[in-house]
Amino acid sequence: MSNPIGLYLHVPFCDAKCPYCDFYSMRGSTEDWERYTESIISHLYDYQDRNLAVDSVYFGGGTPSLLGAERLGRMLEAVRGAFALSPEAEITVEVNPTREPGRFFEGLAEAGVTRVSIGLQSAQAAELRALGRRHTAEQAAHAVALAHRAGIANVSLDLMLAVPGQTAESLRDSVRFCAQAGAAHVSAYLLKIEPGTAFYARRETLPLPDEDGTCDLYLEACAELEACGFAQYEISNFALPGFESRHNLKYWRCEEYLGLGPAAHSFLDGRRFYYPRDLAGFLRGDPPVDDGPGGGFDEFAMLALRLTEGLREESCRARFGYPIPEAMRRRAAPLGRAGYCRVSPEGIALTRAGFLVSNAVIGELLA
Ligand code: SF4
Repeated sequence: MSNPIGLYLHVPFCDAKCPYCDFYSMRGSTEDWERYTESIISHLYDYQDRNLAVDSVYFGGGTPSLLGAERLGRMLEAVRGAFALSPEAEITVEVNPTREPGRFFEGLAEAGVTRVSIGLQSAQAAELRALGRRHTAEQAAHAVALAHRAGIANVSLDLMLAVPGQTAESLRDSVRFCAQAGAAHVSAYLLKIEPGTAFYARRETLPLPDEDGTCDLYLEACAELEACGFAQYEISNFALPGFESRHNLKYWRCEEYLGLGPAAHSFLDGRRFYYPRDLAGFLRGDPPVDDGPGGGFDEFAMLALRLTEGLREESCRARFGYPIPEAMRRRAAPLGRAGYCRVSPEGIALTRAGFLVSNAVIGELLA
């Protein structure tokens, strides 16, 4: 059996569409949720003969918690039936704290879920309203407490940066809220105005920070998270020691994973492929679309440079049998002098200033 892979299951249902969101999701009925669950189970068993080992499972979306613990548990049973699921596997479910959870978290814990990721986005009522979120910060803190009580200690909270009306002070307050609520991990993403979203349609009138203001908010978030004990390990991800997301680390370390569900992407057997954003097609059993070979040096380096550990000499040698190319080290030298990266015999890693302009810095390193 080869190295364990990650398994991503995309749940394409939400209560309502948030105005900034371009993920593939829609409203669905209980019949839709049932059909989707059965379809995922059948897709999982399609891989049974492959004898694949799995050590992380991630239910993302969309809003996986909408399906309820029983359906999520049924899919996990199928994962156990079709794959060799490690007893130490990290099993994450994304949760939106809008509904009265009842025994939801106990159900998750009984099904074997070890981690939940809760969409807080902000602890400020005005910012949550501006983002079109339908929950309060208190509901999110309540969800964290319920997860803990059910025995799920590994709770991640999502925060959004550069939100309309956000200030350094309101952001610091949201970060402290995460720490006080008992989060072990925080994902802090910059709001991006994506084409096709409601925010995009009214982008001219949104009170968004300018570029400098956005950079300041990012640096403020990093500093406050650090002050609260969360160490940065990726551009947008911070964790208490030992609580880094093992599933997401697979993406950044260019390891293999299988994604099932409409809009889910995979990297398996050296190839990338994806299911189109088409629920009906997925339910019909349409095959995934091939996206070519993956895992080459540029892709590996690009992903590694998102991590604070950066592109490491030893992982480069272990994977490709050669060191970080000399030409890349030459290009890194002036970027290092300008403060965008650290260059050492062990490797190349972006600094926080480099993370702020990561696309340009990584582009230059790989030019
Ligand atoms: S709940 Fe999440 S996935 Fe659903 S619309 Fe809002 S941001 Fe998008």
